[in-house]
Amino acid sequence: MTSSPIMTMFDRAVAAGRGAPLDVLKSVYGYSGFRGQQGDVIAHVTQGGDAVVLFPTGAGKSLCFQIPALCRRGVGIVVSPLIALMRDQVEALKQVGVKAAALNSALAREEYIEIRRAISDGALELLYVTPERITTPGFMELISGLDIALFAIDEAHCVSQWGHDFRPEYRALGMLREAFPGVPRIALTATADPHTREDIIERLGLQGAAVFSTSFDRPNISYAIAEREQPRQQLLRFLSRHEGASGIVYCLSRAKVEDTAEWLNTQGIKALPYHAGMDRALRDQNQDAFLKEEGLCLVATVAFGMGIDKPDVRYVAHLDLPGSVEAYYQETGRAGRDGLPSEAWMVYGMADVMQRRRMIDEGNAADEIKRVERGKLDALLAICETATCRRQAILAHFGEAHPGRCGSCDTCLNPVETWDGTEAAIKALAAIYRTGERFGVGHLIDVLTGVENEKTQRFGHVSMPVFGAGKDLAPKLWQSVYRQLLAAGLVRVDHTAYGALKLEDEARTVFKRERTVLLRKDRAVATGKRAAKSAKGAANARSNLSPRDLELFEDLRGLRARLAKEMNVPPYVIFPDTTLIALAETRPSSLKALIDIPGIGESKRTRFGEAFLEAIRAAA
Ligand code: ADP
Ligand code: ZN
Repeated sequence: MTSSPIMTMFDRAVAAGRGAPLDVLKSVYGYSGFRGQQGDVIAHVTQGGDAVVLFPTGAGKSLCFQIPALCRRGVGIVVSPLIALMRDQVEALKQVGVKAAALNSALAREEYIEIRRAISDGALELLYVTPERITTPGFMELISGLDIALFAIDEAHCVSQWGHDFRPEYRALGMLREAFPGVPRIALTATADPHTREDIIERLGLQGAAVFSTSFDRPNISYAIAEREQPRQQLLRFLSRHEGASGIVYCLSRAKVEDTAEWLNTQGIKALPYHAGMDRALRDQNQDAFLKEEGLCLVATVAFGMGIDKPDVRYVAHLDLPGSVEAYYQETGRAGRDGLPSEAWMVYGMADVMQRRRMIDEGNAADEIKRVERGKLDALLAICETATCRRQAILAHFGEAHPGRCGSCDTCLNPVETWDGTEAAIKALAAIYRTGERFGVGHLIDVLTGVENEKTQRFGHVSMPVFGAGKDLAPKLWQSVYRQLLAAGLVRVDHTAYGALKLEDEARTVFKRERTVLLRKDRAVATGKRAAKSAKGAANARSNLSPRDLELFEDLRGLRARLAKEMNVPPYVIFPDTTLIALAETRPSSLKALIDIPGIGESKRTRFGEAFLEAIRAAA
């Protein structure tokens, strides 16, 4: 019988289990200790318990189901919503010598047959399937007589309508409980939203499961939000801190994605576009390039990102406001999965707020939903305009207390000055009121600063007491005042009236001087100064290396890139940066010494050890 590469991978039945979790962690993955509650989850599931795991991105959720699957008898079946995600995980598992496969619609017929055979032979340790497939009678029959180590439901928030990734097929997964009563189930998600969490437990029938949750703080991500002035120049300055690194730039519209990517290329930054309106083949090609090549900037709409496992995304930049705090957290959370310093950066301005409000107001959602959407936008604006620690504000949104002063967000690094803007607010509100709540920001500022033009004259605004009442402040400052009044819910934009500003009821308390209005001082040069400081905080991942070690690191990176290219896999599937950094710093000289390097298990040591030792020797 001819043996295909797949056959040789599955030729030995291995269903008996590999031993104790800590040994598996070391021998397979090359790590010597569990992180956080990983060890507890793994012990619980290995002993047959159900679990719900709520850890942020990068916490190491994959090992929470992979290791129990390897330690228990039988195959671990993993439900995963995206084929690309499955492919990456299976590839990474093969690299560490685990017998893994994915059953999905993208397979060639022969592959499909081989994998089915491996499944019925009990020769697989981990099997990835889509939610559509797992509940089909055919698949149920295929696995019915088998030893099953566990069911893992990855990206479990897809079961919930509350989340933005709702997948109706996830609903059917509740049946696993009755169909396979003795088999432990583990659901995992990085969603912090309490509604979604409740939904997961209810919909998947996990009421009796142990719930493991940790802080949703991502300490290696630094946050910065600046006022948009010259967005392209601001972006360019930001990107100059990340030369040679991979990152994502989010834009709201497809056209802006295309324009920005094109422009970045003219500036010498290798950038590729990604959005749902692109030709599918080209889009997949760009995604693939982003995963496999280093130092690419992917300019994308929010269509990009779910299930992207790339661990070395060093920055996520937003050129437009995201939809909500949840979306902001998810999108920025794609940075720094590997735990190395990374940056979340955003510029935004008044126009975003107007645009977002318009999108909500003009959408055809029910009023109730619109109200929720407006509330979500306001919560995000509050974070944008906060004068205190952003990390604290973000976590507070998810109901988590943080002491603040994190030391790695822009407001902590460069404390924001505030000023008593009560008088200014009263003038700004009076300008709206006196002109009949019929005008947009531009005109209101003309009135306040006393600009005699056709419009101010035609409407007779030149003869009003508010005309010129705000001459003491520059027009730019009035922009900032209005933006903050919007963010604070004192005024709103009426899109049915061409963006006219209207007063909210709350505004009355300001007129009556029942409250003071504290305003942030916008910093004209903020991005420059702030950038320098936060760049230090979120330093380039390898900046702690000595020049000599850095040189070796670059050599090792080159070797990794060559191997990856030969094997047609992303470089991080071979070794993460953290492993290369450890190699460059400790310069092991023997295969035996490689055991102590994090991220080198037995399989990788056998296959890649000599090549990397050779490179280290050559550099000595
Ligand atoms: P999540 O799914 O929670 O986002 P991953 O499972 O992708 O996180 O893990 C993130 C990174 O952390 C991976 O590169 C993984 O190899 C690494 N990792 C996970 N557990 C450990 C550990 N115990 N020690 C060292 N590194 C770990
Ligand atoms: Zn902070």
